[in-house]
Amino acid sequence: MSTATTLNNLPVAVLGAGPVGLAAAAHLLERGLTPLVLEAGSAVAANLATYRQVRLFSPWQFNVDKAARRLLLQHGWNAPADDGLPTAGELVDQYLAPLASLPALAPHLKFGQRVIAITRAGFDKVKTKGREAAPFIVRTQTAEGPQEFLARAVIDATGTWSHPNPLGANGIAAIGESALGERIAYGMPDVAGLERSRYAGQRVLVVGAGHSAAGSLLALAQLAEQDPRTSIVWATRSSQLARVFGGGDADGLRARGQLGQRLKALRDSGALEMHEDFRIREIVESGGKLHVIGELKDGSASAIDGIDRIVCATGARPDLSITRELRVRHDPWLESTDLLAPLIDPNEHSCGSVRPHGHRELAHPESGYYAVGAKSYGRAPNFLMATGYEQVRSVVAALAGDMGAADDVQLELPETGVCNTRLAYDDAETDKSSGCCGGPGPRGEAQDQSSGCCGGPGPRGDAQDQSSGCCGGAKPAAGTGTLRLSELPARWFRTLALSGAHCCA
Ligand SMILES: Cc1cc2nc3c(=O)[nH]c(=O)nc-3n(C[C@H](O)[C@H](O)[C@H](O)COP(=O)(O)OP(=O)(O)OC[C@H]3O[C@@H](n4cnc5c(N)ncnc54)[C@H](O)[C@@H]3O)c2cc1C
Repeated sequence: MSTATTLNNLPVAVLGAGPVGLAAAAHLLERGLTPLVLEAGSAVAANLATYRQVRLFSPWQFNVDKAARRLLLQHGWNAPADDGLPTAGELVDQYLAPLASLPALAPHLKFGQRVIAITRAGFDKVKTKGREAAPFIVRTQTAEGPQEFLARAVIDATGTWSHPNPLGANGIAAIGESALGERIAYGMPDVAGLERSRYAGQRVLVVGAGHSAAGSLLALAQLAEQDPRTSIVWATRSSQLARVFGGGDADGLRARGQLGQRLKALRDSGALEMHEDFRIREIVESGGKLHVIGELKDGSASAIDGIDRIVCATGARPDLSITRELRVRHDPWLESTDLLAPLIDPNEHSCGSVRPHGHRELAHPESGYYAVGAKSYGRAPNFLMATGYEQVRSVVAALAGDMGAADDVQLELPETGVCNTRLAYDDAETDKSSGCCGGPGPRGEAQDQSSGCCGGPGPRGDAQDQSSGCCGGAKPAAGTGTLRLSELPARWFRTLALSGAHCCA
């Protein structure tokens, strides 16, 4: 039997049974390929399950993958109304769990399998000759010890949520952070529900300026209404909160716009003790209370005293350790796929949408390995499931050899409605004249503020024709964020395919 035949007999390993991993499995089945889904948790969507209580801001129409929908409908699925807003728990119970239990998919799912390493059989990272014909080996940690699986390709949909960023403003844990870990929750604890007893009547510090922080602050405000002894403190590393306050009515997702507006109203009401421009360096405990020590923007020392509990909502980062033995190429600061980075860099983008992208932008030097879903964004925020669904459709088409379908990438995403705000990450400056769609040029380079990503510079690092922007006149209508690759000039399309581009749509 030839090597190619041997490889083709192997399954495609899908790492993680979150919404994007399960969508990948559905696409693989639809194309007659065999998935092997390896999930660390004991059930599907272990990450979403940690914030079951949170109402999502994207309605069902954006939350269900098309291949998954087709598979479910074959089995009499009662599809929820497109415009309904599920909680994370409802997404799991009404969509992901039924999907995973379908007879076509269930036999391909393995739980309690935490992937700890991926390599190629007979090859370390250095060895080249014959590499592409070698199967992947995926090693997992299970309750019974390590296991290994062979695969023809690997779709890594492990997300980022299980690797939260620390409280320390410099990207490393604050001094004392791990020792005082019992008093710190990462992510979105159910402060007004299941974990109410831990937070009621407490002085709670929320750290971060994203949607998770917003959700926790609003939930704590609800708790404080029920138990007025509860007090809420909010610390942010920046004083530029335009991103989290959002685009209000201009947001393509109404619920996301409202979340930001409710947070702004809460802040304006004075119900929060606010610490902007506060950079956390150290946490100490004395007299049963936590004292959070940091610096202000001008370098002067400052402290937030008398804290009982901390909710850390500073984002998350991908686990790059599992691909240590693969030839992967990441963006140096986002840790996303290299070609995707210019499209999603929060230093430059605020629209919340991303230009359509697929297998080409997601590819690594290691052929057959793709990071998709939230992990593909690395440390960049604003990932939406709909983006991941289109990613896996394209990647699976490429694995099936259908390059026409793989390259026909289409993505319709709602914008946040804050595209007119030029964001320098963590130091957003409101500058109506130079936004994501009229703003900064290539990453880290001198920029011509008059020429933005939708009317200005092209791919990062390339010589650029300032008269022809990456959107080349195909700038999306405000608030829709809809841009089809087929609408773009062929010249731009080629550039994108080869080197990625800098654009907000
Ligand atoms: C509070 C909150 C609200 C959000 N609201 C929205 C919204 O309204 N709309 C929207 O589109 N998006 C929303 N998002 C983003 C959403 O979570 C992601 O779009 C989605 O979960 C990404 O799916 P994923 O499959 O890529 O990753 P995840 O959902 O993170 O799934 C990853 C899976 O991989 C598993 N895993 C991790 N490591 C390993 C390993 N080493 N081995 C094996 N398995 C592993 C995990 O257990 C998990 O099951 C929200 C996120 C948060 C935090």
